[in-house]
Amino acid sequence: MKIVVVGGGVAGFSAAMVARKAGADKVVLIERTDMLGGIGMVAGIGLVGSGAFRALAEEKALGGGSLYYDVLFPIATHQDITTPGFDRAMLYNVTRLDARLQRVLKENGIEVLLSRTVTDIKASGNSIGAAVLQDGTAIDGDVFIDASGTATGIKGCNEFGYGCVACILRCPVFGNPKGLIDHKVKTFPELNAYGKPGVIGTSLLIPIASLDEKYQEELKQKGHVFLPVPPGVEPNMDRAMKAASYSIPVMSQDVLAHNVLLLDVGGYVKVTAQGSPRYGPLLRRFPGLEYASIAQPSGGLKGHLVFGLTIAHRKNSMEVEGVDNAFCAGAKAGNALFLLDVAATADLAGYNAVMKAKGKSCLELPKTLINGAFIDYIGRLMTTEEGLKKSPQTDNNTMKHLGVYRETEKEITKEVKRVGLEGIFGRRIT
Ligand SMILES: Cc1cc2nc3c(=O)[nH]c(=O)nc-3n(C[C@H](O)[C@H](O)[C@H](O)COP(=O)(O)OP(=O)(O)OC[C@H]3O[C@@H](n4cnc5c(N)ncnc54)[C@H](O)[C@@H]3O)c2cc1C
Repeated sequence: MKIVVVGGGVAGFSAAMVARKAGADKVVLIERTDMLGGIGMVAGIGLVGSGAFRALAEEKALGGGSLYYDVLFPIATHQDITTPGFDRAMLYNVTRLDARLQRVLKENGIEVLLSRTVTDIKASGNSIGAAVLQDGTAIDGDVFIDASGTATGIKGCNEFGYGCVACILRCPVFGNPKGLIDHKVKTFPELNAYGKPGVIGTSLLIPIASLDEKYQEELKQKGHVFLPVPPGVEPNMDRAMKAASYSIPVMSQDVLAHNVLLLDVGGYVKVTAQGSPRYGPLLRRFPGLEYASIAQPSGGLKGHLVFGLTIAHRKNSMEVEGVDNAFCAGAKAGNALFLLDVAATADLAGYNAVMKAKGKSCLELPKTLINGAFIDYIGRLMTTEEGLKKSPQTDNNTMKHLGVYRETEKEITKEVKRVGLEGIFGRRIT
């Protein structure tokens, strides 16, 4: 049995790992650039908010969460940061992500094809037979997982953003991203706060060496620096309105509206503000940031890439509507923003890919579980215009709203056991 995963971001990694553990004889992961990690290479905040730790505890009880236990925790720079902006955060070293992902995939016998772009498919009726690469090579498979993200490259950035901003997707070198399933079915966009298609990323990475020495020391000690916005520095609210994190619930908007937070993500700080990058070139007017320069390729002062343009119509099992043997994972599966929620959809897609290949019915996580309720919630949000403007996440309030909030890890694990799914993503399907 052969499972083909398209896209080597955090979702592609997670789906490939679960598919392999579930018993796929061969798993091939295809990535268009020369590195793994996708947008995760400019993210850096692995977990934020105490709700995230609850959702991760459930993923662990399900036997999933390889992205965290095999990759992000081993390359964490700081854990459990609490600031006036948010209650708990785990940061990882973005410069180590690619190497770590490659190593773990290799150790698990997963074949990785780098610098290969899926440019077409071979299909018969509603079934995909092969992913076709730019040189015409056909990679056949029994089941396919589309984890190619939701950016359309320079085309989308020209139409909905600030043109090419030299981001980590590096389209001028590797060509525009495009989903596998986009060759077969129609996809749809999430919306920014103006109601226009696509949202703009918010990462602004600055090399730590370009910061004032006192901040460099503070970052070593505490992992973060908190800077009030100096008088006379006005934000560019148009940029903020187009950004994905214009109002991330787990980050205090009051605090982030008047301060910026510098987070140590390994050699760089990630600049976090409300709807960052709303200060653009004015950042050098912050005391201590006079020499700040932007790390490239990571997008930056001009803005960031546009993503959220090509979401799949999918079931709660992650099966793509209209294709018999394809699943979607990660950003492609909905407008959830955070790596944790992205990885949870991918764990499920990897598991169900093997279920499908074995001719078994696909699993939908029960809605009494955090992730089951959340996957269903995102699916419902995507059917309304207001829902498409949200960037939902498994925070405490959302869990309470969905009736799946549990205080302790023990209670979370107990529910996973009660529904009979303990360890399921880490086991071979027989
Ligand atoms: C700038 C920015 C900062 C963010 N910061 C954070 C953060 O700090 N914390 C957090 O939790 N979340 C953050 N997010 C959100 C999070 O990074 C994303 O939701 C997540 O990385 C999406 O992962 P993915 O694997 O689904 O997609 P992607 O990361 O987009 O990966 C898709 C991969 O597929 C490849 N691909 C595309 N087309 C093809 C093709 N045809 N053939 C082969 N390969 C293809 C791409 O090259 C890419 O590597 C941020 C998002 C942005 C944009």
